[in-house]
Amino acid sequence: MQTTANPIIIAVDGYSSSGKSTMARRLASAIGYRYIDSGAMYRAVTLYALDHELIGADGNPDIEGVVAALPLIKIDFAVQPDGSQHTMLNGEDVEREIRRLRVSNAVSPIAAIPQVRHALVAMQQALGASRGIVMDGRDIGTVVFPDAELKIFVDASAETRAQRRFKEMLEKGSQVSYEEVLANVVHRDHIDTTREESPLRRADDAIALDNSSMTLEEQDAWLLEMYNKTIAR
Ligand code: C5P
Repeated sequence: MQTTANPIIIAVDGYSSSGKSTMARRLASAIGYRYIDSGAMYRAVTLYALDHELIGADGNPDIEGVVAALPLIKIDFAVQPDGSQHTMLNGEDVEREIRRLRVSNAVSPIAAIPQVRHALVAMQQALGASRGIVMDGRDIGTVVFPDAELKIFVDASAETRAQRRFKEMLEKGSQVSYEEVLANVVHRDHIDTTREESPLRRADDAIALDNSSMTLEEQDAWLLEMYNKTIAR
């Protein structure tokens, strides 16, 4: 696959565990673009808040404390020898840590803090300044890159998504139950779609994809077709 002379921006948004990260990563690798997982950035801020006792036992963040800590939080992505990227928080590789349920359970209230969103959106826009990027998240097509040339919105039932996440976590050795994972997915959907600041919604010009019964290969082919159509325009 050749990259075009005029690289574009591809926004992949959707619900928790809809498989959007996998599809965005695979598309980026197929077309030679950079992939950015914006959710990892919200997770890194959440990990920092957890480790600095900025989240109460009730799960509610100390909003002032989190906002005051923002200038102290530096997030990068380190490319690994196998081409994958690891999220770095203040120079430390936190890729595994940010995927744990304790972070998943705490991330949505952190992501609902307007100042957190403003800081991370600015970082995401800077990462996309030279284009040639596939970014996945919740507000990429609506807020971060409203002018992205290709926008995909991924959906699948909560049960399908929880089943996938559960399998993934078991494979990584996590001791969680399917019910816990499903509860987390449903809870995050609720917070993500009802928050005041840039709630999760499909951009009017985004192409919807329900991948509940698609194989990875079918999904790859579909995305590549959308990409090729977009650059041919
Ligand atoms: O994509 P992932 O599930 O890892 O994202 C973790 C959480 O970060 C989401 O549940 C959502 O609350 C938040 N998020 C967001 N905006 C984004 C990406 C993630 O609010 N662009």
